[in-house]
Formats: sequence, C-alpha cells, structure tokens
Amino acid sequence: MIDAAVEQLLRQDPKSYVIPAEVVANVTATNTLEHALMVLSKVGYTRIPVLAPDDHLQGLLALSDVTDNLLRVPGAAVENLNQILVSDVMRPVTHWVDDPTKLEKILNLLVDEPFLPLVDDQMVFQGIITRREILKRVNYLAHNLNRQYTVTPKMVDTPAN
Ligand code: AMP
Repeated sequence: MIDAAVEQLLRQDPKSYVIPAEVVANVTATNTLEHALMVLSKVGYTRIPVLAPDDHLQGLLALSDVTDNLLRVPGAAVENLNQILVSDVMRPVTHWVDDPTKLEKILNLLVDEPFLPLVDDQMVFQGIITRREILKRVNYLAHNLNRQYTVTPKMVDTPAN
C-alpha cells in the first residue's frame, strides 16, 4: 500500500498528469499501415493507441509492427503497406486504467509500460497517463514532502559493535 501522505501529494490534481484524448496521436483499425507509418513518423512515438470511429479503445500499434511487415518482403516498397490494415497487426490492450486516482495500480503498471490508456467504464478512450508525467509528480513529491509533512525517522535498534 502507498503511504497516505505520499498518495495525497502524488494525487493532487489528477488532471495534471493525464494527457487528454484530444492531443493523443492515434490511428483507427481500418487505416492502412502506410497511413499508420506516416502518423508514427510524424509524431515520433514508437507506440500509439488504436481507436474505433466511436472512440472506443481497440488496441495499440507499435512502429515495429509496421516495420516488421515492411521488411518481410525483400525490396518491398512502402506502397505495399497499403494492402495491410492496422487491425491485421495491432496488439491487444492488456493494461489500462479507468480511474486516474488509482495510483497504486498506475505506479505498478508504469514500471513496465511507458504509458497507460485511460478509459471510461464503456472502454471509451479518455487519454493516456505516461511514465514521464508521473515522474514529474514524483519529483514534485520529493521536493515538497517536508513542506507539508513532518517526516521523522522511526527509532531503530542500532547493532552493537
Ligand atoms: P513519455 O513518457 O512522454 O516519453 O511518453 C511515453 C509514451 O507515451 C510515448 O513513447 C508514446 O508511446 C506515448 N505518448 C506520449 N504522448 C503521446 C501523445 N501525445 N500521443 C500519442 N502517444 C503519446
């Protein structure tokens, strides 16, 4: 369990660490891989969400999912990616959160994931929580804990010499 004081400081203003859906680069499952490659190259991210036309979260697309298909045929041109859809190669979403204040879950998952999709209870995409934004909160915590709390070490037995 996260210490209550730590959680309280980390969780202040959860909106500050959620990147809202409107500014998250994404593709739809019916896009071609040629289009997806253009989006991924333009935004410079290696993994982005795949959304349905009604904004339901459907999967994740990694740059390597696209380049693997490009390199499969020796000498293949980018135009060949026109025949493959995002839905053919996207990965399932294995980890997500539906509440940005569930910090214990968020911190545990972000150890292994660079970002977590945030959805509502219908799996409609709301945005993402990135490792970078959470680290900013941890940085804030590291500099502000003793401004709001008195932190005193517990008495521990010192080993006899
Ligand atoms: P960061 O912690 O900022 O490096 O972001 C971690 C990962 O989150 C990136 O590698 C992307 O996969 C994803 N990401 C961050 N910001 C965006 C965004 N605006 N649109 C799409 N994906 C993003």
